[in-house]
Parts: sequence; structure tokens; C-alpha cells
Amino acid sequence: MKIERVHTHILDYKLDQAFESATMRFERRQHCLVEVVCEDGTVGWGECLGPARANASVVGLYAGALVGANPLETEKLWLDLYNRLRDQGQRGLTMTALSGIDIALWDIKGKHYGASVSELLGGRFRETVRAYATGSFRRDGVDRVQDVAEEVAGYAREGFHGVKIKIGFDVEEDLRAIAAVREAIGPERRLMIDANHGYDLLEAIEVGKRAEPFGIDWFEEPVLPEQIDTYHAVRQGQPIPMASGENWHGRYAMLEPLSTRAVDIAQPDVCGVGGFSEMRRVADMAAMFGVRLVPHVWGTAVCIAASLQFMAALPPNPPRRRPLEPIMEFDRTKNPFRQAVVETPIEHHDGVMSIPDGPGLGIRINRDALHEHALREN
Ligand SMILES: [Mg+2]
Repeated sequence: MKIERVHTHILDYKLDQAFESATMRFERRQHCLVEVVCEDGTVGWGECLGPARANASVVGLYAGALVGANPLETEKLWLDLYNRLRDQGQRGLTMTALSGIDIALWDIKGKHYGASVSELLGGRFRETVRAYATGSFRRDGVDRVQDVAEEVAGYAREGFHGVKIKIGFDVEEDLRAIAAVREAIGPERRLMIDANHGYDLLEAIEVGKRAEPFGIDWFEEPVLPEQIDTYHAVRQGQPIPMASGENWHGRYAMLEPLSTRAVDIAQPDVCGVGGFSEMRRVADMAAMFGVRLVPHVWGTAVCIAASLQFMAALPPNPPRRRPLEPIMEFDRTKNPFRQAVVETPIEHHDGVMSIPDGPGLGIRINRDALHEHALREN
């Protein structure tokens, strides 16, 4: 079996209403899908976390090394691609691009052997996962606190067992938003807060202390991802469990935060950490260091399917029966191609998602949607 060619698909949608995290403004939705085509006609799909055009460029750099290679040799190919950019890479785009390729190769392997990726990873510990809703980004020209409270009330009505809101803008406004959200979703639903590294140390400690009475499951990316020591200081200075990992690409980036327990919850993204090949190494590391793993998920149905395949195969740690753990992040912001790229949308039902069990990722790509949402301007 040989790889014949590699394509990237940059999907693009201009938002009617821009939205912001603490550190990023979204005027458009753009994601990069990777398509690996084999000589026998087998096609695998993957997705890269982060800037779509930049990821597509790096996938293009890797593509020459893939043509003619055996797609079933996922570990050999992962190492070969990693070595090609190791001296200038190790993290960032070199890893997010490699992630999209690795996911596509595992999709091919699953289709070749007639098994889901989760079976290839060692077996399915669960068939469903509970989802939590991610949203509540800041929008222009609205009362933020009221806007966020109304938004999360909708997620509660949809059946989500938890919500994650964006903070990191302004300490006082963020705390008013947290209070309003707790009021809106009631006392039982899980509430997570995500600062997207928008605070400094003192702000993070203050928010953690003052938000704790509202029953917060985790405090995500309070400070800059490069500053592991600052994570320790935040963790020691306030009582909410700490979470991070979407910007720690690869096992080496994960080593210090896991081994020193800078976080209580690690959040690698299969589309950023290095694909399935690296994700399972990071999962083993997290288990060894006693750090809970809850994947970060931010992408199209290709990313959602890959994340679900990984979560199906993630061993419970400790090994007791908890069939609904871990929980799945489900982005609820506007993105018209998120589900359109697959023939059967991967939706939640009353806050629960079923894990596809077909070969590979368990999805079928809708090429009409790829064409309809293809990037057409620079
Ligand atoms: Mg986050």
C-alpha cells in the first residue's frame, strides 16, 4: 500500500458578528483539513489545530516525504516527518501540521483493516461521552454579562451537563459574568472558566479566589503557556483546579507541566499535540503522573470524530467503571461548515455524544461542503 498524494482543504466563513477570547479576535472561521490519497483509492482525513493557511503550508512541506510511503507505518512516518523539521520545530505549526497528517494516516489504517481507530488504539472503553458546551465569547456592542447568561441558559435547556465560559478580559466584569452564569445554569451543572492566558499572576489568583464560591470545575489557561512556574504560583495561590494543554504540543512540551503537576487537568488536542501517535504517549504520561486528561476540541466534525475515537480508547484512570468519563468539549460558536463537512453530523443528544464505530474515524466526507466552503480569497 502506497500514498499517492496529499491535499489540504482550507475552509473559510466570514462571520456576520465577530467574537473574541481574551487573546484572539475571530472575524472568520478557518480550518485546515488534510486528505491523504493512496494508490488503491483509500482516502484518509485529518485536521490541524490553529491557523489554517499556515498549517496547510507546513503540510505541503511534509507532503513530498509521504508520496510513495506505506501509510500503515504510522510510527515510522511520524518520526520521519518530525525529524525533518525538528531543528526548527518541536512545537507549534510543525506539530499541528503533523497532527493532521497522522490523523489521516490512522484513518487510512482503520479503513484498510476494517476497524475503528479506537479499536486500533487498543479497544473501546466507552461508546458514549457526555459533552459540555464551549461558548460565551465576547461580542461587540452587547451587555457582556447579560449576553453570556442568556447564551448558557440555552445550553442548559439543550441538555448539556456543563458549560465553559470565556474570561480573561477584565477581573470585575469576568466575576460578574461567572456569577450570572451560575445563576442561569443552576447549582448542579458543571461550570468551567477559560482565560485563554489573558491574566497575569495577581489577576489569576484574585479571580480564582473570588470565583471559587460559584462552584468551578476548572480554571483553564489562567496565564501564559510558556510560564510553567507561574502556573505553579497560581495553583498554590487559589483553590480552583487548574487545566491547560491546548498550546503544549507534543510530549516534550507536556513533560514539565505533567511531571511537576503544574496542572490538575491536562488538555491535549489530538489535532495539535501530534495526532493519535503522540496523543497516546501524552495520555500515558498524564496517567503516570496522576494528572486527569480531558481533551481540548476545537474544529470540524473531522476533529470531533478524531477526538471521540481517542476518548473511546482512553483507559479509565483509576480503572473503575465510569462509562461517561471523560467529558467532551463541544464548541457551540458559529461555524456553518463544522458539521457540513461530513455526511452524518456528529451531534449531541441531550448532552451525550455517541462515538462513531465505522472504520477509521467513522465518518464520510461531504465533498460538496468542502467545495462550498473552500477559501476563495487571500
Ligand atoms: Mg481553552
